[in-house]
Amino acid sequence: MARIFAYIVHKSGVPDDTAAELPVAARKIDPTQPCTAIVTGWGADLDRVCESLRDSYSEIWKIAKESLAYPNAELVRKALLCVVPAGSIVLVPHAHFGVDLSPGLSIKMDAVYLPDVVDIEDVEGDCLKASRQEFGGQVSAHMRCNISRGAVLNIRPGAFRPSEGATAALPAGFTLEKMTPGAFRPSEGAPAAGQVVDKSGDVGALTSRRRYLETVAAEMGDVDIAKEPVLISIGRGIGEQENIAIAEDLAEAMGAAVSCSRPVVDAKWMDKSRQVGSSGQTVRPKVYLACGISGSFQHLAGIKGNPFIVAINKNPKAPIFRVAEVGIVDDLLEFLPALAARVREESCVPGKERQRS
Ligand code: FAD
Repeated sequence: MARIFAYIVHKSGVPDDTAAELPVAARKIDPTQPCTAIVTGWGADLDRVCESLRDSYSEIWKIAKESLAYPNAELVRKALLCVVPAGSIVLVPHAHFGVDLSPGLSIKMDAVYLPDVVDIEDVEGDCLKASRQEFGGQVSAHMRCNISRGAVLNIRPGAFRPSEGATAALPAGFTLEKMTPGAFRPSEGAPAAGQVVDKSGDVGALTSRRRYLETVAAEMGDVDIAKEPVLISIGRGIGEQENIAIAEDLAEAMGAAVSCSRPVVDAKWMDKSRQVGSSGQTVRPKVYLACGISGSFQHLAGIKGNPFIVAINKNPKAPIFRVAEVGIVDDLLEFLPALAARVREESCVPGKERQRS
């Protein structure tokens, strides 16, 4: 079986949550080999990321270049092509940077490309069977592809959670302690922490037609949803602006804040500062109630830290149910008021105090 690599997305010296998820997908492709992490960047932040991955990966390939200090998919693609052996399988998170990077990478590698992979069903010889989502998650497609020349797979964030049941997906000798990046600790008698291999020398000068200009921070409104432990998040399923009061009432009962998906902002029903997702805010709540949200990858990309996700959706096939711990198939306009009433009822029971987190 070809060697498997995981491209690590990171920011400010901290690996993305997907760094803990890619080895789970890799193990489903080949349970006999651990996958190798590839980290690109520059400076102390890059070193911190590599160090934090030593408990999760047995080998970490570091590519340090000043030109890689800022995100530029064209440069990262060129760097990866210098180090990844022909015929390899490269796993990349299906978020905006990964989607920018991967198709071109697969063309240059002359390898198969599969976006938005939510499950690896089987591998038989050179035939990999995976399921992915199309038409914004409305259609589940089961694909077979020939990986004899390698593959680049965009792995949907949250689809391969390193949960208890997934421990079989970890490299031999590793156990799972927590559901956070850097969480795979070598068990007793197991191999030592992963080795950082500096591959910078294999990569020549990198040039690009793109130029990094600046990073624009998302606007902050009256409520900073990035710091809220409980979010009631509403999507297009809320129907109309007047119905937002239903979510606000539940939020008040639970001591939570209301966030939303992009269509709610596009319709000017809520402020942009409440939008969760790749073009909105990144949130790290403990509990995330997704109400009338289908679960597009752009929305899920903004949910970090493995929160307890409860999804309420009237479509039982909505993709959000794939990442939710609890799924409720119901009309949110009926369910949310009933839940708010129940929460208030419970909090009135003597001796019980409502908590904010
Ligand atoms: P829909 O996909 O329309 O889903 C609505 C859901 O509500 C459906 O699943 C439906 O079954 C359910 N529903 C309807 N009525 C009810 C009811 N009464 N009760 C219960 N359920 C009901 N999106 C973001 O959210 N954040 C981003 O940052 C973001 N950035 C983007 C960046 C780019 C470059 C692009 C191209 C897109 C971006 N998007 C973003 C948009 C994203 O692709 C999706 O279109 C969007 O997330 C869908 O929002 P939604 O789930 O609310 O709506």
